[in-house]
Amino acid sequence: MKVVTTLDDLRHARAALAGPMGLVPTMGYLHEGHISLVRRARTECASVAASIFVNPAQFGPSEDLAAYPRDLARDLALLEEAGVDLVWTPTAEIVYPAGFQTWVTVEEMARPLEGAHRPGHFRGVATVVAKLFNAFQPQRAYFGQKDAQQAAVIRQMTRDLDFPVEVVICPTVREQDGLAMSSRNAYLSQEQRAAAPVLFRALSAAAMAWAAGQRDAEDLRQLMAGIIDAEPLARRQYVSVADPVTLQELEGPVAGALLSMAVIVGTTRLIDNLVLGEA
Ligand code: AMP
Repeated sequence: MKVVTTLDDLRHARAALAGPMGLVPTMGYLHEGHISLVRRARTECASVAASIFVNPAQFGPSEDLAAYPRDLARDLALLEEAGVDLVWTPTAEIVYPAGFQTWVTVEEMARPLEGAHRPGHFRGVATVVAKLFNAFQPQRAYFGQKDAQQAAVIRQMTRDLDFPVEVVICPTVREQDGLAMSSRNAYLSQEQRAAAPVLFRALSAAAMAWAAGQRDAEDLRQLMAGIIDAEPLARRQYVSVADPVTLQELEGPVAGALLSMAVIVGTTRLIDNLVLGEA
């Protein structure tokens, strides 16, 4: 496995890789969710590349950029073991050199949900992913359903800007108790960790109610909200029943929908989602 930092070294190393090449972008502090993307890429591509970059542009001024967990040595060992051929670990100065002023903005789809609570977040995400696509020129790129709106925004950007990249969305990997794996789970105290599966419990309860015939969008939102509100360590930021393609909030009876939420457990903001019909 080759590990490079500069863009020149990346382009050079990338040129030597067999095609099709699959890219797995990450912010590091890797867990089984990230590795599942690498494994999927490994089965579908002749070579696999990954990036580890805690992208400052997708963090708000009051968010956890400085505190974001990092362990490069462990990450590289995990990627090597999973069969990655090439890893790019750029610095912020390499990705955003002095004078940088070009941004990628996806409009409607980036506004609700995460976009409403994290202004500028998806501008940062779309810009860095566009730069990663240009730098790596992958044939396929792998993202997790865990970040459902991010996946939708990246799909839209890829289509709108004609990137010749197939965007592959992989299922959410969970802990035994249902908590979606996330680098941010490392922030949770033991007590908060015990409370954190409430997100999946709420999503599952809504999916079960829907399967049993409860179709009204507002009733499903209320059901999820009630379960979150009953957990003393959890503070609900939003619960949503939205169109899985446009991400617009739904009203009335729903046939299929993206159930999603952001919940603050202690001081850690957690997100999770389920797609009705796939649950
Ligand atoms: P991050 O390092 O959090 O930016 O995540 C990098 C990629 O891994 C993104 O495409 C995420 O959606 C994906 N990912 C993160 N957590 C999970 C998970 N629990 N299951 C599947 N994919 C995940």
